[in-house]
Amino acid sequence: MKAAVCYEFNKPMVLEEVSLREPGKGEVMIRVAATAICHSDIHDMKGEMPGGVPFIGGHETAGYIEKLGEGVTSVAIGDPVVVSLLAHCGTCYYCTTGNPHLCEHRFDPPQEPRVRNKNGKPLDLKGNIGGFAEHVVVDISQVVKVPKDMPLDRAALLACGVITGFGGVVNRAKVRPFQSVVVMGVGGVGINSIQGAAYIGAYPVIAVDVLDGKLKLAKKFGATHTVNAKNEKAVDEILKLTHGRGADYVFVTVGSTAAISQGVTFAAIRGTVAMIGLPNYKSQVSLTPLDMIPTEKNLIGSFMGATNLQQDIPDLINLYRTGGLKLDELVSGHFPLEKINEAMALTEKGEGFRNVIMFE
Ligand SMILES: [Zn+2]
Ligand SMILES: [Zn+2]
Repeated sequence: MKAAVCYEFNKPMVLEEVSLREPGKGEVMIRVAATAICHSDIHDMKGEMPGGVPFIGGHETAGYIEKLGEGVTSVAIGDPVVVSLLAHCGTCYYCTTGNPHLCEHRFDPPQEPRVRNKNGKPLDLKGNIGGFAEHVVVDISQVVKVPKDMPLDRAALLACGVITGFGGVVNRAKVRPFQSVVVMGVGGVGINSIQGAAYIGAYPVIAVDVLDGKLKLAKKFGATHTVNAKNEKAVDEILKLTHGRGADYVFVTVGSTAAISQGVTFAAIRGTVAMIGLPNYKSQVSLTPLDMIPTEKNLIGSFMGATNLQQDIPDLINLYRTGGLKLDELVSGHFPLEKINEAMALTEKGEGFRNVIMFE
């Protein structure tokens, strides 16, 4: 099969024939229909995430079940599915206490490498998926069946960007109606935190970005107010909009440690700052004890929107179908696999929310 392989950080991916092994016990093979480009893919390409080369990126995938491994009964050949990086064992402490996204085995690589290049070298698969390829083999726990009439370029977005943003607000922070929310960064994740905050009834929902075009879009997705952090003293604007207190919740969806430090200044006394966007994994956040202690602020991490795939993806699809979740508007472009380097460059420029690689 054809795949886009990264052999060197900061260099274009190489399109080449690779070999995919058969699905083993508890695994399925999927014919990929669509894989969206996430900002984490850019980090991977630049070597800003742990792991070396060579690898195949892509972890926001949707496609059709093509082969079933031993013991798989929950899906059938031909079923359309979303494929997420959220593998879970189903039996560990976190799986059995309602947090499968924190499964102790979620990052375990498969026992046998799934993909090798023509020289027989195993290729690392990001998210244990490697969706920038015509087929993938994944663990059955990573797969959620979707209705047959669900467009798969939209469905792919549910694998990461949508659940990370929306779930961060709804599942992880559990924002309640009329609590005030700031979303820092109106990108592929932030726009979904805005949708989540609007859905849950937060008020105000304040979008913060440095691009006026993005802030305009934020309003279409439910932001009640916008602040351009470049033009205004953002903290003053946020205090004005929150009775002088600051926000109950600040969601930092940009991958920047400076934004996390700034986010703490946006939060109210006892407010919560949720780190969602992944900065370079070697970077450090700068805070003083006085930023946190006298104000009793909370700083929390939020991973993949604390999503329970089997429960949340069908709910989000129902919300999409009844007009409560915008997905169509998130797709900014479709590209064939041959143009993946071009699509990545556009994503890096921050144009549009999601560029999707299409395989059919
Ligand atoms: Zn992602
Ligand atoms: Zn587990």
